[in-house]
Amino acid sequence: MVGSSVKILLIEDNLAEARLLQEFLKQAQSKEFTLVHVKRLGEALDILSNCTGTYSPFDIILLDLTLPDSQGLISLPILSNLAPNLPIVVLTNTNDDALAIEAVRQGAQDYLVKRQVNVEVLLRSLRYAIERKQALESLRKDNKSLEIRVQERTAELIKAKELNQFKSEFVSMLSHDIRNPLNTILLAAGLLQSNDDKLPKEKKLNHYQLIRSAVKSMSQLLDEVSFIGKADTGKLQCELVLLDLKAFCRQLIQETELSTAQKQITIFFTASGELEEALWDEHLLRHILGNLLTNAIKYSPADSKVYFELMGQEKTVIFRIKDQGIGIPQNEQQHLFQPFHRASNVGTISGTGLGLAIVKKCVEAHGGEISVESEVGMGTTFTVTLPMIKD
Ligand code: ADP
Repeated sequence: MVGSSVKILLIEDNLAEARLLQEFLKQAQSKEFTLVHVKRLGEALDILSNCTGTYSPFDIILLDLTLPDSQGLISLPILSNLAPNLPIVVLTNTNDDALAIEAVRQGAQDYLVKRQVNVEVLLRSLRYAIERKQALESLRKDNKSLEIRVQERTAELIKAKELNQFKSEFVSMLSHDIRNPLNTILLAAGLLQSNDDKLPKEKKLNHYQLIRSAVKSMSQLLDEVSFIGKADTGKLQCELVLLDLKAFCRQLIQETELSTAQKQITIFFTASGELEEALWDEHLLRHILGNLLTNAIKYSPADSKVYFELMGQEKTVIFRIKDQGIGIPQNEQQHLFQPFHRASNVGTISGTGLGLAIVKKCVEAHGGEISVESEVGMGTTFTVTLPMIKD
């Protein structure tokens, strides 16, 4: 309640009725009442709409349901829209019980039948209406905060469940990817040990080579896992240096072609637009482009073509890597950026499923975006957009 007195907005066109109510309020001993009387709904709306914010100078509205500018229940929603926190008590004529009850059903706190009102009835109705409205309001607030808490808790539980599922997938993938090379090492070492004298030199070399590549693949796996762990704990930093982007890309292409020489795939490189004088994190770029180029070659048949486009725009640089390889099924494309996810059509092509997860983390650390377009049997295009940062 505002101040110590109860402030009432009375909307009543009948002066005699208004005066009578005023008289009753004057007789009240227990409380002081201040009454603002208006004869039309329009006037009341003017007063209420001039009140700023949630503050209202009134504690309650007394509303006659037969006004010159508004008849019946229509006044109710108009008023409660404008002043949702104010309790409303309607004034009805004798023999209009149905209307009075409907008014309460539609949100009025109480009704008073004119001619039957006396001081006690009026005071009790005002007090109860105000208290009921306040109780309702606090219930509504409690309900709202309960709802918010339930939503927050549900989101937490879903996250925890996803994390648990992710952890168990992670562990089973990791153990699978470590067990395979370990088995190879065990097998090759066993063959070398038991047939030491009988094995021809090339066979021996072959077994040693198997051991070396198994160890290499395990150590690569560990590097990739620890890289993802680093990114997840926010330790991936973007250290910008001035870089000749075109020369950097050419160098990377040479390295990739060299390491995948057996596939005999040529990478066609084009560069366009303004590319000078921008700052880049060489380490992140190497992960992004190196992984995408290696994948483009790895998932393409020998002798096919890979296109690498570099486009400098006003505020961004676009890197587009396009291949004519096996493609990725539509419904699996978005999952591939999560660790260990591999598409169902990889066949015997080996991989850990960590490369694209690393690419995505690096793109994000560089403030950019990555997207994929692909069709099975036709090829895949990855597009990376990074902001052009100038000194
Ligand atoms: P990996 O190649 O080690 O399996 P990545 O995380 O680099 O892991 O890629 C995830 C998956 O995305 C791959 O297993 C493959 O199914 C799919 N993929 C990525 N790049 C290509 C590509 N250029 N063409 C077809 N499939 C691709």
